[in-house]
Amino acid sequence: MDTIIKTENLGKKYKEKYALQGANLEIEKGEIFGIVGPNGAGKSTLLKLLSGITLPSEGRIELFGSDNLEKERKRMSSIVENPTLFKDMSAKDNLEYFRIQRGITDKSKIDDLLNVVGLGDVGRKPVKKFSVGMKQRLAIALSLLSNPEILILDEPTSGIDPKGIVEIRKLLQRINKEREVTILISSHILSEVENLANKIAIIAEGKIKEVISIEELNEDTGEYLIIKTSDNKKAAVVLEGALGIKKYEAKEKGQLFIYERADEVEAIVKALVDAGLGIREVTKKHQKLEEFYIETVERKGA
Ligand code: ADP
Repeated sequence: MDTIIKTENLGKKYKEKYALQGANLEIEKGEIFGIVGPNGAGKSTLLKLLSGITLPSEGRIELFGSDNLEKERKRMSSIVENPTLFKDMSAKDNLEYFRIQRGITDKSKIDDLLNVVGLGDVGRKPVKKFSVGMKQRLAIALSLLSNPEILILDEPTSGIDPKGIVEIRKLLQRINKEREVTILISSHILSEVENLANKIAIIAEGKIKEVISIEELNEDTGEYLIIKTSDNKKAAVVLEGALGIKKYEAKEKGQLFIYERADEVEAIVKALVDAGLGIREVTKKHQKLEEFYIETVERKGA
């Protein structure tokens, strides 16, 4: 695997206080790398340093194995601060404006990108009438105009409703797979990154506390599923009867926590659907990650 982002002892001080300190990270080509931590932990600072929006107080950054950052940053796109969108213009006109401004000659890209981000049918609707999720998807389309190899997004799901969050998650997964874009994303909500990233760095109080790959976590037995169905009582009968699952608990908000066979999501969902149940939510959680996050982050009152 190629390391395409590397930081060594990277730090940023504002006055006397470190916003980020001693950050050592290696991000491989093709990864979706999640940075999770509470507000004020230093996530934006790290992403701003990588994007070149602020300069480090100490340490170094390497991109694509080089420290010619000005050159290598051309291979990167970032949405770290609120993107400039022309609110009275349509999605297409926004894309067209930035295509011309950036000297990109291929006009066919516009419709292609609108379709990629699911805005192919919004027509002339001005951006000011877009939902937060639609604006974010347009920002992602704009960031893809230059065919980046790395995409950096700071809290891309902030302020977006649950349906919109799922759309952004699927979109980022598609961009990662189909366009082979390495993605670096931050969030203060563990579950948002847990369901998207293949590697996670936990950050608190300006320090990277742990880097864990989802692969490693999957080898761990502490996985469980949270399923929400149209009828939990019936779902429990199906779990026991058709699948022989006994280790489950019905929780508040209509959620069923399933503590065994969490790797058989498809079979479980199929059995529930075959029994005529509507599935409203399926989430896989990693006990170890959750516990670790709580230990390193929340118990400190951060
Ligand atoms: P996060 O993105 O995890 O919420 P930030 O990177 O924005 O955290 O902030 C980390 C710390 O650095 C916070 O204590 C914040 O107040 C401080 N900080 C961030 N930007 C500045 C700045 N421009 N001037 C002074 N302090 C800052």
